[in-house]
Amino acid sequence: MSPLLQFTNRGIYCEAGDFYIDPWKPVNRAFITHAHSDHAYRGHDLYLAHRQSIPVLQYRLGEDINVQSMDYNETIFHNGVKISLHPAGHIIGSAQVRVEKDGEVWVMSGDYKLENDCLSPRFEPVQCNVFITESTFGLPIYQWKPQSQIFDHIKRWWQKNQEENVCSIIMCYALGKAQRILCGIDLGIGPVYAHGAIENINEILRKAGEPIPPVRRITPETTKDDLRKALVLATSSVLNTSWLRKLAPFSIGYASGWMQVRGNKRRRAADAGFVLSDHADWSGLNETVKATGAQKVFVTHGFTYQFAKWLREQGLDAHEVKTAFKGESIDETTDETGTESIIENTAS
Ligand SMILES: [Zn+2]
Repeated sequence: MSPLLQFTNRGIYCEAGDFYIDPWKPVNRAFITHAHSDHAYRGHDLYLAHRQSIPVLQYRLGEDINVQSMDYNETIFHNGVKISLHPAGHIIGSAQVRVEKDGEVWVMSGDYKLENDCLSPRFEPVQCNVFITESTFGLPIYQWKPQSQIFDHIKRWWQKNQEENVCSIIMCYALGKAQRILCGIDLGIGPVYAHGAIENINEILRKAGEPIPPVRRITPETTKDDLRKALVLATSSVLNTSWLRKLAPFSIGYASGWMQVRGNKRRRAADAGFVLSDHADWSGLNETVKATGAQKVFVTHGFTYQFAKWLREQGLDAHEVKTAFKGESIDETTDETGTESIIENTAS
């Protein structure tokens, strides 16, 4: 008998239920954990996803995709296999997929984080026999501070730039990080603007009823004077473009878990680094694996070799597996992307 979930060259497959989870090649039936480009590809016959993921999935993959909406904890059956979605806390609508047959339970985490960002429902550990986890930050050096401290840091940096009449630009992902920053920062300090790639996503989410604060879109009419006291959210795809040069003088900050490592800020020519990730840190990964009660663990992306080895040392039956998932990248053109790069990723 084959395992309940298998790792195939199309993605994670359930033979008994005949469906895939986050497949990277076209399939008949795909459960999608969230709308980031490395988990949601074009070309599937049917998409099943949490209802809050659907507006962005349609925006990115096409209004004409055939999609079935699910709620958290709602149960559906395919060929006698029981499937449900549970909060992953990663971005709006992100879900873990729980699969059960004959009393055996597997959970595919997708990407996840434990800290509550007020937009995605808080992560819920799900009891299972086999857990499929990410490990984007699966090394002990990755330990996040409480996000309130990070938002304080952003505030102080922004205020210092305002005193010097310098525009503050934060580079961040268009889906997830940008909205989290908007909900976390003190919007009373000055005007907040967003690049079109971010504001497009914001508008879709607002239309769907998500509490995304209003910000101004940067347009050709936006003047340099408008921006002197402003905070601007942009994706790193604008680096070395005329769009960015028009905002000068500016200071650039990156919001990413990779900012934990000092050299990364320098390499990206950033003036400030804010250690803010939508993925679990080392403690979060360990806490989660423990909370699931799983004895067998598959590690899909990130520091897979190191994290699987560590879990084996803790007495678990842990293995790394090769998938197309990438997690958070310091260079957003290769990963959990802005709108532009998702098109490149999915077309190839
Ligand atoms: Zn993601």
